[in-house]
Amino acid sequence: MKLIISMLVLVLSFNLFASEAIGFYSNGKIGNSVSIDAYSESHVRKLYRNRGQLYGTTETMLALTSLADHMKANYPSVEVTQIGDISSKNGRKIRRHKSHQNGLDSDVVYYRVNEQAQPESETEWGEDFVINRKLTKNFHIERNWEAMKFLVNNHDVGRIFVDGQIKKALCSYAKKIGEFSQEIETLRRLRIENSVHMHHFHLRLKCPSGNSRCKAQGEPPTGSGC
Ligand SMILES: [Zn+2]
Repeated sequence: MKLIISMLVLVLSFNLFASEAIGFYSNGKIGNSVSIDAYSESHVRKLYRNRGQLYGTTETMLALTSLADHMKANYPSVEVTQIGDISSKNGRKIRRHKSHQNGLDSDVVYYRVNEQAQPESETEWGEDFVINRKLTKNFHIERNWEAMKFLVNNHDVGRIFVDGQIKKALCSYAKKIGEFSQEIETLRRLRIENSVHMHHFHLRLKCPSGNSRCKAQGEPPTGSGC
């Protein structure tokens, strides 16, 4: 009995079952990945389930599910937070993505004015929020801004990839409501990647502390980038 207890203490203290991001976002894998299905009580929904990209690190799952719950708590009528691809069970290369390999990348549908989540039967993104280089009326600027602030201020976010028009709109919105100077760090982490982020943003977390085999990415330049 004593032996079992001391072994248990050993296992727990070395955190042998913790998830681990290994390698780089575009050349990596995951140890002990976690499925988003472990968080089914959260106000989060996984799209494209049959692609099998349900997995990531614990940190990714906590960021996604706490975002969903934060949005629900702040805006009770908000649609569920819909998640596109995360990673495959063991990480590594998946179809459609260069990154998404080490469990720290995930795609999240933008929040909508009409509060209508896309049907889960759809096999591709349901709605573009940037058409002819203009933001559509259904892009909920206040809620998407709240989501970005929540993620950057509460999780270890490296970058959030968005469309250029969306960054521009969030920069102006932050100025308009007087939050520009206090949210420079949020704006800084919004990185422009056009033509793919008009229906979803791509959340990228930094290497979690203790994941010594995870290869860090350089920090984005300081300043808002607006
Ligand atoms: Zn992505």
